[in-house]
Amino acid sequence: MRIVIKIGTSSIAHATGRLNIRRVEKLCKVISDLKNAGHEMILVSSGAIGMGVGKLSLPGRPTDMPTKQAAAAVGQCELMYTYDRLFSQYSHTVGQVLITGEDVLSKERCAHFENTMLRLLELGALPIINENDTVATDEILMIGENDTLSAIVAVGIRADLLILLSDIDGLFDSDPHVNKDAKLIKEVRELTPEIIALAGGKGSELSTGGMSTKLKAARLAMDAGVDMVIANSENPVVLYDIVEGKDVGTRFVGKGHK
Ligand code: GLU
Repeated sequence: MRIVIKIGTSSIAHATGRLNIRRVEKLCKVISDLKNAGHEMILVSSGAIGMGVGKLSLPGRPTDMPTKQAAAAVGQCELMYTYDRLFSQYSHTVGQVLITGEDVLSKERCAHFENTMLRLLELGALPIINENDTVATDEILMIGENDTLSAIVAVGIRADLLILLSDIDGLFDSDPHVNKDAKLIKEVRELTPEIIALAGGKGSELSTGGMSTKLKAARLAMDAGVDMVIANSENPVVLYDIVEGKDVGTRFVGKGHK
């Protein structure tokens, strides 16, 4: 299977912005193992700005663009250094791919991006993608969050499965932070207005996504016939079950899939 995994900032960094070593080590181990089992793996990783905040000892996530971009420049290095080191332990080679909204809008650049991705996969490398936060500056050029970016990637390279790892178990029938009886929805076959209305909350201090961006990603994926799963990143071992089609988190079934 060709599998795109998106991991959010709150899953790979502590609230301080420093790396969550235990989590990232487990994640890289499982992804390496799935790759060894013959799957094509692609990682979309957030965390550049968050880790830059930690590394530069900033008091919190910056609000002004130059500081955000400076933090991303520092954090992206830390991210790739970490992934390169951890995946190397399992003899996997990573490749960094940074794109912007402008690239996605341009047919020509999109074609180059897709060709590069497919080539990296043919060469057995593990592409690690993020938005190019140091140059994406305004709402036209910026995708702004990696839920949507990961769906664009999954659709573009015709992935079989998109997995969004987050700090929540999946989509609930009411807000689980408010209602302790909230029930996890295991499968979504259609994005009805009722389902869309469930996406109320926002992300954490260091991250940008929330349930609404995840449902936006689900729409892109489902329309292109790609299955998407939202699952908790707490224990990356769940990736094995997700890939085997077992009940984990919320599965959004791509159009045309049984
Ligand atoms: N590209 C941003 C970063 O690496 C993250 C966007 C997101 O949180 O989805 O910090």
